[in-house]
Amino acid sequence: MSVRNVAVIGSGPAGLTAALYAARANLKPLVLEGLEAGGQLMMTTAVENFPGFQEGILGPDLMAAMRAQAERFGADMIRGDVVKVELGRQPFVITTEEETVEARSVIIATGASAKLLGLPAERKLMGHGVSTCATCDGFFFRGKPIAVVGGGDSAVEEATFLTRFASHVTVIHRRDTLRASKIMQDKAFANPKISFEWDTEVVEIKDPALGVVSAIQLRNLKTGAEKDLEIEGLFVAIGHIPNTALFTGQLDMDDAGYLITRDGAKTNIPGVFACGDVQDHVYRQAITAAGSGCMAALDAERYLEHHGH
Ligand code: NAP
Repeated sequence: MSVRNVAVIGSGPAGLTAALYAARANLKPLVLEGLEAGGQLMMTTAVENFPGFQEGILGPDLMAAMRAQAERFGADMIRGDVVKVELGRQPFVITTEEETVEARSVIIATGASAKLLGLPAERKLMGHGVSTCATCDGFFFRGKPIAVVGGGDSAVEEATFLTRFASHVTVIHRRDTLRASKIMQDKAFANPKISFEWDTEVVEIKDPALGVVSAIQLRNLKTGAEKDLEIEGLFVAIGHIPNTALFTGQLDMDDAGYLITRDGAKTNIPGVFACGDVQDHVYRQAITAAGSGCMAALDAERYLEHHGH
């Protein structure tokens, strides 16, 4: 088994940009794409805020282009999910369901997954009226009634942001008090375009048969009463989970489980770098992930050079 210079774990915008830069630096990176190859953009339709695409581009097409670009310069790809990483020895060892890889440096770009409600229509209508990113998709709901699920900072911030586009925003929260910071709550309460459905859960999203969101069925958790709310967009803002379980006990994480990076893309282990949403719960954009992927590759290149490779 030959030792790779760079192994990239993850294949969203961060991982593929890291792979592109590492490949162009002649480092022959190996990308462990994972089973959900392409990351969160595979669940979206039009992406209109990635610079360079004047007319927008479909999320899966953007990821296919990034992958092909990295491959063109010599990045190798493996599909399987990583099941184990050993970062306490050098070279580092990465094990997938089918093989074991050794690498002198590792770039972690495993991303974060938006938490979903778990309703059958949710995934089907993702990118077709259901979204997990207001910054990305708010623009598509100009003049339309929409709803946001959640009661944290994300939900309240997104609801306020979405009033720039939507005719009305209904916030649906499972309790009768918000978790969001007071200042954001006050802003939302004062906004005439926002109303709240308290103690309420979404039980159904209509209408998967039509391929668009036309209404949601709500249930009051205290009274059991059900009703339909006619909307054209549903933003699920109930939090994200960083994909960091593999690194528990090896890499420094914050309280929410995001990897901590310092001085660029460096983690607490020399030679291990992190980029994209796995270390960023603030910006969460394809372009910021791609930018940090570039940083991770440049940091890895410098690390390898410093160690004589
Ligand atoms: P969060 O604080 O974990 O809030 C998640 C919200 O979704 C909670 O209100 C929770 O309800 C609700 N929820 C969770 N699972 C649900 C389910 N299955 N069904 C229905 N509702 C569900 O997540 P977040 O809002 O994404 O924020 C994450 C972190 O980023 C926080 O530390 C936050 O302060 C920070 N953040 C900061 C800013 C800012 O400062 N500008 C903006 C965004 C996020 P309960 O309240 O009942 O638990």
